[in-house]
Amino acid sequence: MDKGYKVQVEDLHKSFGDNEVLKGVNLNVKDNEVVCMIGPSGSGKSTFLRCLNKLEDPTNGHVYIDGYDISDPKTNLDLVRQNIGMVFQHFNLFPHLSVLKNITLAPTQLKKADDAEAKKQAMHYLDIVGLTEKAAAMPSQLSGGQQQRVAIARALAMQPDVMLFDEPTSALDPEMVGDVLAVMKRLAQQGMTMIVVTHEMGFAKSVADRVAFFHDGLIQEEGTPEQVFDHPQQPATQSFLNKVL
Ligand code: ADP
Ligand code: MG
Repeated sequence: MDKGYKVQVEDLHKSFGDNEVLKGVNLNVKDNEVVCMIGPSGSGKSTFLRCLNKLEDPTNGHVYIDGYDISDPKTNLDLVRQNIGMVFQHFNLFPHLSVLKNITLAPTQLKKADDAEAKKQAMHYLDIVGLTEKAAAMPSQLSGGQQQRVAIARALAMQPDVMLFDEPTSALDPEMVGDVLAVMKRLAQQGMTMIVVTHEMGFAKSVADRVAFFHDGLIQEEGTPEQVFDHPQQPATQSFLNKVL
């Protein structure tokens, strides 16, 4: 374990019954680093992300967030989770709450922020995602892309140290994808530490510091975008890239 990493994953295994989905994943992510994970569906990418905030319990191995072992009973998991923002393919906004309330809910309930301050912060994050004019709207009145940007603002409102994205644009109509990627790119440029599972190869090429190719429960290859996209070493990486590029 090394305090210098935001996220440190050591020999992570996860099985569902007989199905070994993660087979010993290692990954270190530094402060301000953006790691994009690519790879075929069913290879374990979502399970991996879910293990990082213990939405899934690893079968074996260790995950350290800011140096805290999330499997250690002495670690305050609630606090660790507050520092990890997660954005899913399906935005999971609370349908009965306005955009503003969606964003202020966790800060007021979990961080005991006062209402006025939480509202001010929410407007700040809505501004970052370009949606201040939608503060009073209900989620159903927004497009998919707008809902996803609200979901990003909601995650940011907890002021996380790390943001995890699981295919955040996969469920969107094509014309919505660019706006969401633009928000994510801006976050990356502002120094947010991010792990992004994505099929958007252009985004991975231009935004990632590091690209990790996930296949069959393991990171088979990782490197700079140039290394992985232009000079893949593993046959599995080459074959995947031939299909998607
Ligand atoms: P990816 O995100 O790369 O598409 P997933 O992590 O979603 O891959 O899934 C990897 C494998 O884990 C699949 O075979 C899937 O069926 C299995 N799996 C994922 N979650 C569960 C679960 N809760 N129970 C049983 N099997 C699961
Ligand atoms: Mg997935």
